Amino acid sequence: MNTSSLPRIAVLATGGTIAGQAGDASKTAGYKAGVVGVDKLLDAVPALGLVARIHAEQIASIDSKDMSAALWTTLSRRIDALLAQDDIDGVVVTHGTDTLEETAYLLHLTVKSTKPVVLTAAMRPSTALSADGPLNLLNAVTVAASADAAGKGVLVAFNNQIHSARDVTKTSTYSVGAFRSPETGVLGFVQDGRVEFQRTVVRPHTAASEFAVAEQWPMVEIVASYADASRVMVDALVAAGVKGIVVAGTGNGSMHATLTQALADAVKKGVAVVRASRVGSGHVMRNGAASDDVLGTVSAGTLNPYKARVLLMLALGSGLDDLQRIFDTY
Ligand code: ASP
Repeated sequence: MNTSSLPRIAVLATGGTIAGQAGDASKTAGYKAGVVGVDKLLDAVPALGLVARIHAEQIASIDSKDMSAALWTTLSRRIDALLAQDDIDGVVVTHGTDTLEETAYLLHLTVKSTKPVVLTAAMRPSTALSADGPLNLLNAVTVAASADAAGKGVLVAFNNQIHSARDVTKTSTYSVGAFRSPETGVLGFVQDGRVEFQRTVVRPHTAASEFAVAEQWPMVEIVASYADASRVMVDALVAAGVKGIVVAGTGNGSMHATLTQALADAVKKGVAVVRASRVGSGHVMRNGAASDDVLGTVSAGTLNPYKARVLLMLALGSGLDDLQRIFDTY
């Protein structure tokens, strides 16, 4: 086979369970994430050589529970620089599953290229019996090497499925089928070298997005509503200088009366407040379970609280204040 004509894909490793190591092969929970280097991950998948020419970089070696906004900036800029090169056709990012949906959405809104960007991960460490990382990596590179993946924003290839970064979320603590797109379903499938898309992405992203990563990120935090919720956390955040608060509300973004009063007070002090839901699927209607017009709040629509936080950070970091338009658009 003449491999010189294969697409050239950059694999950027950041750590996670896909690069995890346990003391014995039967362990799928007691292990250390983010310790195996990218070269070793690639060596475990010889079939990659039939799909693409690989350029590998180790961007970080972390457990993604420790992801930082500073690393998001580094990653987004590195992806842009690589995709601006004529000799790079797509990017794959290996990541931990814990915050994958946040990083994926952040890149979906900040990378300025229509070339494919695909995130993948694993639920079992690289040393485990039936480790899922090698096949997920092969499938992610297969998607990134596919011309059909261009222009669809950032994608997540996991367990033979292809998800949009905007919609995907982790839904299990142990299952190798942990990722789902609850409201919209998968974008497509990847299996045995075949990439098949079944729907498209309609909201703007990547090259059509108005956002850029920042040097300095605004402080945006998440507060949940629940039975007997108090105003202590909101008041502490306001005192600490928070710029935005996302509420993981009950049901359709409803909030305990005590919390509602605290958040209304926060809005009066200039804090941006976005109502999302802790439910895990569905959408939060503007002026539905709470009057956004009266409170001065914004509804998150179908974004979960963690993705709503990403969008609010980007909007505030870009100096934008027409926040409901932004949440209705992205
Ligand atoms: N804690 C790990 C991480 O997010 C979990 C995983 O990758 O599955 O890095």
